[in-house]
Amino acid sequence: MKILFATSEAVPFCKTGGLADVAGSLPQALANANNEVEVILPLYQRVADNWKDKMSFVCSIEVPLGWRRVYCGLFRLEHEGVTWYFVDNEYYFNRDSLYGHYDDGERFGFFSRAIVALLPALEFMPEVIHCNDWQTALVPVYLKDECVRWSDIRGIKTVFTIHNIEYQGRYGKETLEDLFGLAPGWFSDGTIAMDGDVNLLKGALMTCDAITAVSPTYAQELRYAYFAHGMESVIRLNGGKVYGVLNGLDMAGYDPATDKRLTVNYGLKPKKGVESLETGKAKNKQHLQETMNLDIVPDVPVIGIISRLVSHKGLDLVCQVFDEIMRLNCQFVVLGSGDWNYEQFFEAKLNQYQGRMALYRGYNEALAMKIYSGADLLLMPSKSEPCGLAQMIAMRYGTVPIVRETGGLKDTVQAYEDWCGVGNGFTFADYNSHDMQFVIEQAVGLYYNKPAAFRKLQETGMAEDFSWTRSAEEYNKIYQKICS
Ligand code: ADP
Repeated sequence: MKILFATSEAVPFCKTGGLADVAGSLPQALANANNEVEVILPLYQRVADNWKDKMSFVCSIEVPLGWRRVYCGLFRLEHEGVTWYFVDNEYYFNRDSLYGHYDDGERFGFFSRAIVALLPALEFMPEVIHCNDWQTALVPVYLKDECVRWSDIRGIKTVFTIHNIEYQGRYGKETLEDLFGLAPGWFSDGTIAMDGDVNLLKGALMTCDAITAVSPTYAQELRYAYFAHGMESVIRLNGGKVYGVLNGLDMAGYDPATDKRLTVNYGLKPKKGVESLETGKAKNKQHLQETMNLDIVPDVPVIGIISRLVSHKGLDLVCQVFDEIMRLNCQFVVLGSGDWNYEQFFEAKLNQYQGRMALYRGYNEALAMKIYSGADLLLMPSKSEPCGLAQMIAMRYGTVPIVRETGGLKDTVQAYEDWCGVGNGFTFADYNSHDMQFVIEQAVGLYYNKPAAFRKLQETGMAEDFSWTRSAEEYNKIYQKICS
């Protein structure tokens, strides 16, 4: 199939969050599955010059946006089997950050309008345009708006993926015509109207052919107010076209057998330069303990947290029973930054648990990899988690996850059952600190009392297939369904 993937960020060009990882991996996986794939994104200042040097100029057009006629350049780059298109407008995109500007609505309204206007300039007319989050939410709306006059685009289907429903692109009613160039009917019939405002996300949900969320459980959860940030009724109204597709993981990039960031490489199949899980992890643990000033003790379970320190990551639960957790014979490592109260909480505990607890405030990828490879358990008690990457990385490195059963955590971590040995981690359902404490005790107990069973858990996690190939297959089915 011919697919155009529309995104506001993508690895390796520009990244602020998980969307960039998806946009950096999924198009290639789709291309490997016999699709023709093009990706389109803005040409930000942040895109490095070495990439810009490799781009070729395709064309420039004027894009109508309300009463404006705006310059729009198009550049092209071939990279790993995928054609990348970059939309150029220095006024909108030559800024030091991707988002957070007073005119973000206008910037991404322009980007979405440009994607539709540029379709004849691309190598092919797509059968499907796959849009992502509010920044490209106007694409399905503009397609429907234009197709009454332009028969070439009438057959194009659209998929809209929700990575995070919190950000919706909400603007005053007056922006509809003035900024986005849409007729009042789009608002008065409710398509793009929500609580008296223009809501771009709602526009996409109402007009696209398929809605996907980044995990099957998140797709279900979005039907409820607790998770949907006011969009639950729109999700339910469109329930027949909602799907959940679990994000993948860059399995080659995160491979303990080859990862150069680790002290010692290890794997399920030891070979030259690759140690066994047992010895490899022991050496990485020792290195982690040295790096973070923990007591150098080989057979104590190390519990790690690698996370933004914000409320929805479930840190309240950790704070509530932290002393109870530390009463177990374990070490605790926290890597993250975020809300002041959580940072202060962990900071204050450092003195109390010298040699047994460590904290690094900030973002540090090298240290994250030391924790993934050196810790025994990773704690992720999130209140909500659309997909979650950290638990998948942890499993890949033989670090057993302890998670709350929500969103992608529920879809990737199956509870260990002592009596039959099934599962790949530890889980609890209710948002309750004592339930969490109970499974942490269970995990630490297994580590000490049944090392063979604990090893099996680690091995099961390491053998999981979180590849993008699997996700691409799911998306392929959705594309085929909406095009048939
Ligand atoms: P979210 O996208 O909500 O922050 P995810 O679990 O999906 O959560 O992805 C978080 C990613 O960011 C993981 O790859 C994790 O290793 C990484 N990460 C989070 N905090 C830090 C940090 N302080 N330093 C290094 N990496 C971090």
